[in-house]
Amino acid sequence: MSARILIVEDEEPLTMLLRYNLEAEGYEVDTAARGDDADTKLKETAPDLVVLDWMLPGLSGIELCRRLRARPETRQLPIIMLTARGEESEKVRGLATGADDYIVKPFSVPELLARVRALLRRANPDRVATVLSIGDIELDREKKRVVRSGRAVDLGPTEYRLLEFLMERPGRVFSREQLLDGVWGSEIYIDERTVDVHVGRLRKAINRAQESDPIRTVRGAGYALDDRFGRAAS
Ligand code: CA
Repeated sequence: MSARILIVEDEEPLTMLLRYNLEAEGYEVDTAARGDDADTKLKETAPDLVVLDWMLPGLSGIELCRRLRARPETRQLPIIMLTARGEESEKVRGLATGADDYIVKPFSVPELLARVRALLRRANPDRVATVLSIGDIELDREKKRVVRSGRAVDLGPTEYRLLEFLMERPGRVFSREQLLDGVWGSEIYIDERTVDVHVGRLRKAINRAQESDPIRTVRGAGYALDDRFGRAAS
C-alpha cells in the first residue's frame, strides 16, 4: 500500500505541480484548497502525511495544525508546513512547532520530495519492514504469516490486512470509516459494523485465554493497536 498524502494549498498551480510530482513518486494524493475543507477531509480519511500551506482561506494552516495536534487520531500525523518568505519569522517558527517540518516558498520540488520521504520513513519505519512485530506478535509480510508466542495464527485475508494495517501504525486511533478505507478500499461500500465483526474475528484468532488483547477499542473513536502492548509496564 502506498502512502497517502493530503496537499492543503490554495495556489492551484502549486497544488497541481505537487500532485503531479508526488503521484510520479507513487504516492496517493488528495488535495484541498481551503483549511476548513481540509479539516473535514481529515476527519473522513487518514492520510499518512499532510503538506499544509500557512495562509489559507477558511481556516489558517496554523489553526488546522493546532486542531490536528489536539485530536488523538492525528496527534502523530506528519505535517510539513509551507510558508511564504515573509512569514519566516521567529514568531512563525515558534507557532509552527506543531508541524514536523517546514519549508519556505519558493522551494524546489526535489527538496520537498526529499523531506516527504524522510518524514514518512521517520514516522513509519515499519512501512518498509518485512517483519512487523509488537509484543509477542510477529507478522511476516513476505510469507503472509502471523505468529504469536511461537505458534502460528490462522487468519482470513481480511483479518490479516486489518492486523497489518494496525501494526504499521501502532498507537494511532482509526475510526471505522478510516479502517474501511485503508483495509477494504474506498471504492466498495460496506457497512461500518463490518469492521466490528472483523475486529472480533481478529481478536478471537490472536488472543488465547490469559493472553492480553493488543487491540484497543476507543469509545466513540474506533480502534488502535496498543503501542504499549507487550511492554513490562502494561
Ligand atoms: Ca496560501
